[in-house]
Amino acid sequence: MYRNKNIKKTELAELGEFGLIKHLTRDFKIVNPSTLKSIGDDAAVISNESGEILLSTDLLIEGVHFDLAYVPLKHLGYKAAVVNFSDIAAMNGTPEQITVSIALSNRFPLEAIEELYEGIQLASDKYKVDIVGGDTSTSNSGLFISITVVGRANKEDITYRDGANLNELVYVSGDLGAAYMGLLLLKREKLVFQANPEVQPELTGHDYILERQLKPEARTDIVEALKVHGIKPTSMIDISDGLASEILHICDSSGKGCMIYEDKIPVDITTSTMAEEMNIDPTTAALNGGEDYELLLTIKQQDYEKIKNIPGLTPIGHITEAEDGVNLIARGGALVPLTAQGWDAFLKNKE
Ligand code: ADP
Ligand code: MG
Repeated sequence: MYRNKNIKKTELAELGEFGLIKHLTRDFKIVNPSTLKSIGDDAAVISNESGEILLSTDLLIEGVHFDLAYVPLKHLGYKAAVVNFSDIAAMNGTPEQITVSIALSNRFPLEAIEELYEGIQLASDKYKVDIVGGDTSTSNSGLFISITVVGRANKEDITYRDGANLNELVYVSGDLGAAYMGLLLLKREKLVFQANPEVQPELTGHDYILERQLKPEARTDIVEALKVHGIKPTSMIDISDGLASEILHICDSSGKGCMIYEDKIPVDITTSTMAEEMNIDPTTAALNGGEDYELLLTIKQQDYEKIKNIPGLTPIGHITEAEDGVNLIARGGALVPLTAQGWDAFLKNKE
């Protein structure tokens, strides 16, 4: 839980916009040779000497995408950066630069923004990404963060959503549904805390699902491993909205159908334990939960022997003709058509 009652508070007005930018960016280091000019001019300069440029952006709004009642600012910064790296990984590329734009209401002291930037810097250091610019503004209500990422890939390596072919194998990295169960746990404890502030949140023993929600990772390691083993996925997407929604994107774009086997979907034991405690079907958490930031990919059958050598990739089904539909084969053998009840950003607002 985010509490900043006891820490020092420096009003942002004391620093002014330029003072704030200077302070936040004072010890940014550049690690990528493609970063020719970073912060401090009217634009950053990025070399295009090798590969194609991948570009993606993401906007996070307080009260819509995050709740500071249970998301620490450092984690928020980390996650805001990582979700962008995940989009580049999903194209089979490497993230190299980001710009960070923030809008802040005057309720945020400097120390809160420092925490946010600590998280962004931690993620950037870990993934060897340079922070090369941004914009800073005031906001009338709440916190806004927008991160834009620049990545790189050789033209022949880039993976799109539309490349899946008949009979190819469907794989997923890591395990699914944990981030969603982590979110439900945080929401539950927030309600308990609001009802009685004396009661401490019951978060111990749930490290894995909480970490999956608060501090997700981008699977750039899988992108590396696929390259090392000489496998180029025929299609790939990252799982931000749940497995159901993402496999539908791949099948739609590729003009194909698929069979996904429920008993093959990887779900961690701590995820299914929490799901059962909350009366939620663990498969539903995996299909519709979202925010796992794992990779969903298809490969040619002939790559089957090679992909076995990569730990953390699980085969969950295969690609069929479009006429056969996008289906889940349930544990009992029933054929269930998949629909995108996943996290539609607009539907979610209506809750
Ligand atoms: P401009 O007037 O051209 O918009 P700014 O004064 O906003 O320039 O920014 C000065 C420099 O600081 C630029 O290089 C810009 O990219 C960078 N910058 C501004 N805000 C941020 C931020 N929140 N994070 C990182 N870099 C920033
Ligand atoms: Mg500016």
